[in-house]
Amino acid sequence: MKFICDDNLGKLAKYLRVLGYDTLFKSEMEDSELLRIALSDTRIILSRDSKLKTLKSADKIVLIRFYDPVEQLQQVFRELELKPQKNKTFTRCLDCNTELVEIPKEKCKQRIPPYVFKTQERFLHCKGCDKIFWAGTHVERLFEKLKRFIPD
Ligand SMILES: [Zn+2]
Repeated sequence: MKFICDDNLGKLAKYLRVLGYDTLFKSEMEDSELLRIALSDTRIILSRDSKLKTLKSADKIVLIRFYDPVEQLQQVFRELELKPQKNKTFTRCLDCNTELVEIPKEKCKQRIPPYVFKTQERFLHCKGCDKIFWAGTHVERLFEKLKRFIPD
């Protein structure tokens, strides 16, 4: 199941990516472009814009009713009957949606703070935007926030 979010839903897009869902988002996107990509790529549109609902050529739209991104995520899970997926958490870049690959610790040495190098063992690399991720406190906070959507 793949998604495309309208430009009001950046946080939701990020949360879906954390959970491993292929989710496109750009901060500025015309409705026509959103629709074109959704159709050619069979993506479900997530939108806060009720006018989009009238674009009947879209296959599937979830009209988001909430302001809080966690409630938005809950609505998506409920309406599409999604279940938390095992082994999917933190497999995509939060910033650009590319699938992450593990990278040997030694290769990161020049690019991460010494403290992180000392305390972390597992590193993930994004080929899309060349970022390196690890399970630091910000990631843990994010997991805590989203834990009801992550399987045990
Ligand atoms: Zn990236």
